[in-house]
Amino acid sequence: MVEMRNVHKRFGDLEVLKGINLTVERGKIISIIGPSGSGKSTLLRSVNHLEVIDDGDILLDGAQVNRPDLQGLAFERHINHIRQNMGMVFQHFNLFPHLSTLDNVTLAPRKLKGMASKQANQLGMELLDRVGLADKADVFPSRLSGGQKQRVAIARALAMQPKVMLFDEATSALDPELVEEVNRVMRGLAEEHMTMLIVTHEMAFARDVSDWAMFMDGGVVVEEGPPSMLFSTPQQERTQHFLSKHL
Ligand code: ADP
Ligand code: MG
Repeated sequence: MVEMRNVHKRFGDLEVLKGINLTVERGKIISIIGPSGSGKSTLLRSVNHLEVIDDGDILLDGAQVNRPDLQGLAFERHINHIRQNMGMVFQHFNLFPHLSTLDNVTLAPRKLKGMASKQANQLGMELLDRVGLADKADVFPSRLSGGQKQRVAIARALAMQPKVMLFDEATSALDPELVEEVNRVMRGLAEEHMTMLIVTHEMAFARDVSDWAMFMDGGVVVEEGPPSMLFSTPQQERTQHFLSKHL
């Protein structure tokens, strides 16, 4: 569903991704862990072209994301189409403050897919129900807790019926007691076989939920494998060191 081949990304002189290879098969969950500054967010943002890569290839469901051959409007059309197939959830919720919870969820299907309001509201209510917030449909984001906001953000991302969901530290800005309600929603998606690429600082969650785990440091994938192995018997010194501090 998602493939990265030898992806490089530089910010000026700083090479942040140094040849990343990654495959997320349909229905699988990949977790990426690693120290701050190792390039995890840049990697995720590259997948939906929020960062423009310098070299390599990124494919979504077989379609090339980076298309140096397309310019201007043609590229914009292409990337909008690609992005409609990806849902992204960030550390900070980025909900629209002037829209109700329901309108936050229905905005994209209405504007981007031209879905009729009635149908969009029905879909929106289904999604709010799925994240346990049907009773908050008319409430504005300022009245929600952090965990509730993040669950709305997940419902909003799901509203475009994406092929893959990208999570960048979705729970790291939350008070500890609010983390589990968001994790529960993500586990629910896992049970429904949503394809997911998850950057997380929560090792126990990554170990429980993922099919494959990758440890990044300094812009490279240092070590990867089934979580049962990566977390219990890491082979590389850098992985061992990181896990000894974070498990
Ligand atoms: P992580 O998510 O693992 O903490 P990031 O991908 O955010 O790491 O950042 C990797 C490196 O790239 C860091 O050194 C960061 O300072 C740098 N970086 C990220 N975004 C930019 C940017 N827009 N301009 C310059 N440097 C950046
Ligand atoms: Mg980050």
